[in-house]
Amino acid sequence: MLYNCHTHTKYSHDSAAEPAAMCDAAANAGLSGLLISDHCDCEYADHTDFFSMFQSCEKECAALKKRCKDLRVHFGIELGDPVYNADFAKKIVKACDFDAVLLSVHAVRLRGFDMPFSLIDFGDKNDAFILSYLIQYFNDVLYTVQTAPDFDVLCHLTVPLRYITLKYGKKADVHTYYPVIAQILGALAARGKALEINTSALAYENGFLMPDKEIAAMFLTLGGRYFTVGSDAHKPENVAFGLNEAAKMLKSLGVKDACCFDKRKIITYPL
Ligand SMILES: [Zn+2]
Ligand SMILES: [Zn+2]
Repeated sequence: MLYNCHTHTKYSHDSAAEPAAMCDAAANAGLSGLLISDHCDCEYADHTDFFSMFQSCEKECAALKKRCKDLRVHFGIELGDPVYNADFAKKIVKACDFDAVLLSVHAVRLRGFDMPFSLIDFGDKNDAFILSYLIQYFNDVLYTVQTAPDFDVLCHLTVPLRYITLKYGKKADVHTYYPVIAQILGALAARGKALEINTSALAYENGFLMPDKEIAAMFLTLGGRYFTVGSDAHKPENVAFGLNEAAKMLKSLGVKDACCFDKRKIITYPL
């Protein structure tokens, strides 16, 4: 009975899913719980009324918590890129009664290419660009994990590779970045935070978990204790996608429990 700790609804700019439809799909797929974690990318805070948006989402989640008898429904936020607006990031996580705060880097601070990586065409970029882009990505994740004042889970570590290698077919070797990845995982473990195993890249040919088994093992070696699994679904039909594969990978490392969050408190459940 897995708990999906990362999903999106119509409260995200890139999803049209009704929260109720996500919950129904999760219950039908046999999940024990669902975290609704809509996007809040801090670089857009000046042009987007995230406060009203999350207040509406909170009301809808509160109604669903009551309505869904066989599914634990939790209300969260995917806080993206807090380094772009640290004051706003501090305020928004306090503005609602969130169950969980997910932390993400979507926009890398590389001059001229600081838009979200989903908007970058990596197809015409050379190896040197990809190397500097990924160095900056991992350094930004490290800085974010070290400095973000308030979060519970680090999301989809290695996610630009989903675009660079799977979508655009470019070469990149994640081992090149292991020294900084080890620092990220060490910082996360030291702060007692969870590492997400995100399944969304499994949808591609030669897809992989984000992060993969070797990096999850490194997290354990460095003292990490908590893992979440999340499909990052933006549609009801993807709500349970790949979660069993993530659970299988964790179990193969001897991990017995994954976790979810209730009012910002960690709850573990057996895998
Ligand atoms: Zn994300
Ligand atoms: Zn997401």
